[in-house]
Amino acid sequence: MEGWRAAAACQEVDPDLFFPVGTGAPALAQEEEAKRVCLRCPVREPCLRSALAQPHPPSGVWGGLTEAQRWSLARLARRRADDRG
Ligand code: SF4
Repeated sequence: MEGWRAAAACQEVDPDLFFPVGTGAPALAQEEEAKRVCLRCPVREPCLRSALAQPHPPSGVWGGLTEAQRWSLARLARRRADDRG
């Protein structure tokens, strides 16, 4: 286990909270609740970096972002890196 995981705020809640199923209102509400846990998490940054570094992006909420949000962030980072040459 990476050291930062020991301080993760999500250890105090049901892990399923971070993996909403579907795209309807209940799933979106669950997603927002998970993000609220991440907002008070002291290791949000290393968590997000770890999720972005995975060769196969993990599903669910990590580092306060959904899979789609992390995908957009990674794409933006790649575009900026390409622009720098
Ligand atoms: S940022 Fe969110 S998913 Fe990551 S360790 Fe903290 S609570 Fe868990």
